[in-house]
Amino acid sequence: MRQFFLSLFVFCFALTLYAQTPKLPIIGISGTSNSEGAVQVPAAYIKAVLRAGGVPVVLPINGDIEVIKKMTASIDALILTGGEDVAPQKYNEEPHPFLEKVNPGRDVFDIALVKAAVERRIPVLGICRGHQVMNVAFGGTLYQDIPSQIKTEVLKHRQQAPRRQGTHQVILEENSVLAKILGKTAVMTNSFHHQAVKDIAPNFIITGRTSDGVVEAMEMRDNPRVYSVQFHPESSVAEGADELLPLFTHLVALAGDKR
Ligand code: MN
Repeated sequence: MRQFFLSLFVFCFALTLYAQTPKLPIIGISGTSNSEGAVQVPAAYIKAVLRAGGVPVVLPINGDIEVIKKMTASIDALILTGGEDVAPQKYNEEPHPFLEKVNPGRDVFDIALVKAAVERRIPVLGICRGHQVMNVAFGGTLYQDIPSQIKTEVLKHRQQAPRRQGTHQVILEENSVLAKILGKTAVMTNSFHHQAVKDIAPNFIITGRTSDGVVEAMEMRDNPRVYSVQFHPESSVAEGADELLPLFTHLVALAGDKR
């Protein structure tokens, strides 16, 4: 009998140790489809997640809401990636002459995916198009083309410099998630966009802008585990730079906390 309780004790102790071992959180990365119909994700997102200690898993585009919900049930955090313009019909506008390539199937997928992820309370990082589509998913709107639709003088938001290079400054709100995890309120970022957030979604707050007023970061009002940026932090992080790595390590840490 004594041996039985001793064994039980050892078993419970081992179980406790096992439960406390930090697991590798699974980070779902929204995929896109190329012109040949192949599913793809730029390797920089994969490298950034690996550098941050997460397990990258590519989520292929599909339009089945039950499949999409199951996808969010099997990941610990979501990254919504960059890409095409969001179709203006998704925020009740007609196309502007300078609207560029859209991908309607991807709009359906991304919008359903981010809504399902937020519903499940998993952390979300939106990047570039991911930031814009998240705003649209929750009721916000976009500038279809910054240079022609913003009447004041704007910065160069489509840099020709290499992807890893920062070209404009983003000023962050003091109490924002981004300012906290980066430990500062001004950061140099790259810029590869001609669209931007116009009306912010009701449940979100703007947390970063460039000096011309363009929205470069936001987070969910009651859920700071959901945050997004207009720039591409994965480009420099994938090449070994550490300045923007906290955007990913924070997400991986939140993902690990979830269960
Ligand atoms: Mn920019």
